[in-house]
Amino acid sequence: MVTAHDPAQALAPDWLAVPDDANDLADLVWPASARRDDDGVLVVGGMRATDLVERFGTPVLLLDEQDVRDRAERTERAFRAATARHGGEARVYYAGKAFLTSDVVRWMLAAGLNVDVCSRGELETALAAGAPADRIGFHGNNKSATELERAIAAGVGTIIVDSEIEIERIGAIAERLGARQRVLVRVRSGVHADTHEFLATAHEDQKFGFSLDEAERAVARIRQLASIEFVGLHCHIGSQIFGVDGFRESASRVLALHERLLAGGDIPLLNLGGGFGIAYTRADDPAPIEELADGIVDAVAEQCAARGIAVPTLAFEPGRSIVGPAGVTLYEVGTTKPVAVETPTGSAERLYVSVDGGMSDNVRPALYGAQYSARLASRRGDGAPALVRVVGMHCESGDVVVDHEFLPGDVAPGDLVAVASTGAYSAAMSSNYNHVPRPPVVAVRDGEARVILRGETIDDLLARDTGLGRDA
Ligand SMILES: *Cc1c(COP(=O)(O)O)cnc(C)c1O
Repeated sequence: MVTAHDPAQALAPDWLAVPDDANDLADLVWPASARRDDDGVLVVGGMRATDLVERFGTPVLLLDEQDVRDRAERTERAFRAATARHGGEARVYYAGKAFLTSDVVRWMLAAGLNVDVCSRGELETALAAGAPADRIGFHGNNKSATELERAIAAGVGTIIVDSEIEIERIGAIAERLGARQRVLVRVRSGVHADTHEFLATAHEDQKFGFSLDEAERAVARIRQLASIEFVGLHCHIGSQIFGVDGFRESASRVLALHERLLAGGDIPLLNLGGGFGIAYTRADDPAPIEELADGIVDAVAEQCAARGIAVPTLAFEPGRSIVGPAGVTLYEVGTTKPVAVETPTGSAERLYVSVDGGMSDNVRPALYGAQYSARLASRRGDGAPALVRVVGMHCESGDVVVDHEFLPGDVAPGDLVAVASTGAYSAAMSSNYNHVPRPPVVAVRDGEARVILRGETIDDLLARDTGLGRDA
């Protein structure tokens, strides 16, 4: 039996308890369809991990398609219900930067969502997938003239304006194209939220948007231009947010500006961004989306009532909370290595488990110190829970896949390890570091698997090297 005196626990962070069963799948952490079959094999979307790996190799990123679709629908319904209670309307934009393929775009459209993009590539993906242009929002602090021209010519619904220079650029392009472009003005509310805390200042030292003061001038300028239509303010306060307080504070500041701007004309929209948190580990405790939607919308409605102004249509931009929890990455264990580590009370052992991927397929641990959860996927382990660090195969000591986890102590080469909640910002941020081909993304649903983003091959990598095929 494992006790609190177990030496392994000496190296574990406070938030990570020794599990009773290091084979269990915590509800909020794993996709809705995740379970183990009678052989102890992890099953997602009705597909066994071992069968999937036989077909697609490792690493492979699985996306529980039904889970993604359900989360999208549930989010749409939650915000629609929350605003309807105040006689208003909601519009939900899926933040495509979290993970975007044509299938994902179609799932979002089918669930009634719109799509946010922030580059030419994301814009072209959404358009090519059949997204009606007027259901696309276009973000970015440095959209090029070419990107703006393409977006305006295509008829994108809203462009989220980020600078004075961009206002003039959009004005000129729209005028030349004979268009009237709808825009939102992005503001820095001075509120930055992250998980349980939010930080509120008068000014935020970051690159996006206008300060609340500057925004007033920007809106005045837009209202002088015939080729641009101001439709509302936009504010995004951060990511992986668990509570309502940051949104409430931010909305209160933005609504003060919104009210002043009403003197110059109607403002139909207010976009409060995304950032709803998910459970990467058991220690994360995100509120259900319905609770967040009700809390945020009630706060806005209350503040509008206090100001005696109408509640605008409210827009939201979730990315992570739609696709994140539906993703599972499968890796194969190559080596394990016990490492003795000094602790204040002596020495303890950490078991390093090396897998065949890493920071090239999920950079978040290396980049942000992000925490994840892992389990054996090819079998149920028998060993007592051992504190492990799952690491990748890259030439960097910071190449961590899962920083702290308990796995069955008999984890061994050839085992498959699954890492949970990798649907957002892993494939999207993947790289070819160390000339590692990027893995495929496979949608699983009802016992069927479909590649939605093909994996790269070594030939793909070599094909970019123009020195090959040229005589030396
Ligand atoms: C990244 C981003 C989002 C989505 O954030 P999530 O944490 O994935 O929900 C929404 N809006 C803007 C402007 C963003 O930059």
